[in-house]
Amino acid sequence: MRKAAFIYSQELEKYRYPPEHPFNTIRARKTRQILNSMGLLSGDGRSEIPPEPAERIILKKFHTARYLHALKSAAEGHWSAEALNMGIGTSDCPVFEGLYDYAALACGGTLTAAELILSGAADAAFNPSGGYHHAGPERASGFCYINDVALACIILAEAGKRVLYLDVDVHHGDGVAYAFYDRCDVMTISFHEDPRVLFPGTGFEDEIGSGEGKGYCVNVPLPIGTYDEMYLKAFESIALPLIAAYDPDVFVFELGVDALAGDPLAHLCLTNNAYAEIIKHLLSFKKPILSTGGGGYNVDNTARAWALAWSLLAGAGSEMDMSLGAGGVMLESTDWQGGLRDREFVVRSQQRHMVLPAIEATITAVKGNVFAFHRL
Ligand SMILES: [Zn+2]
Repeated sequence: MRKAAFIYSQELEKYRYPPEHPFNTIRARKTRQILNSMGLLSGDGRSEIPPEPAERIILKKFHTARYLHALKSAAEGHWSAEALNMGIGTSDCPVFEGLYDYAALACGGTLTAAELILSGAADAAFNPSGGYHHAGPERASGFCYINDVALACIILAEAGKRVLYLDVDVHHGDGVAYAFYDRCDVMTISFHEDPRVLFPGTGFEDEIGSGEGKGYCVNVPLPIGTYDEMYLKAFESIALPLIAAYDPDVFVFELGVDALAGDPLAHLCLTNNAYAEIIKHLLSFKKPILSTGGGGYNVDNTARAWALAWSLLAGAGSEMDMSLGAGGVMLESTDWQGGLRDREFVVRSQQRHMVLPAIEATITAVKGNVFAFHRL
């Protein structure tokens, strides 16, 4: 039986980004509500675990003391030009009430998940309030202040684990990719929209790591309009052989779902069925999976995708697939009672003609740049 931990507490609900900001912390609560109503948070090895705030000494494994001090001071209302120079207090990364406490608690959720996996208490742990992959050691960026996923990779690697970091957020997982750019004990694979059109503007096929890490940083940029079939083609052609060759001990899975069709910040056309397929692939490796949230700016679609992801990660997928409503509801629908799965996205032939050659070129480029390092 799988042991699965859903990381959540009401404490997280106290904090909100400013109302005009696209990042909505309510998504975690909505995900929990859906799962709770379906009876998917308990029984059969499933449990709900509250996050512990991350301690400053742990945060310093990735962030500088200067940055953490500036972040805390800003949260307490002390404005400084130094903080602004580190990205704190910009329109993307505004200062809001309880900012530091929220960031430390959300990060703590991911670190709690890492501890549960290291102790063997969980094979799967999901923190929907995590996934802040853009934060740098001394930089707030892209709605992210404390890089919980980089810290989780650091802690798992320190415990001697070979870590596979997989990032399917529509934006390049730059903060994590660059944290391990010269290391081979943490392999990072990021699938994201073409950096020429989307923030943060990095994550090209030729960014493959350096020194010992050469070939252990993998970037798969995807064209506008990429749909499930093409996404999975790229995933199966690139990620599956690399994961098998790398043979990780543990996955850290950044499950931003802003690649879903209709997301207001990006231009891909996935349905949550693509994420379900990816999760089935990850489960086939039979290794622990630490999953986090991330992007996802259509709140209802995001909560439904994460609820579906949890049901699969927690091993409820097979018996639940019928009631999860295969072929279920429309992406725009807020009526998740009709099922967790999105209805199939209809791809027009013009879209097919645009996307297919671009995906094939990307697959060829990434294979050419990276596979030889893994004798593939
Ligand atoms: Zn994103």
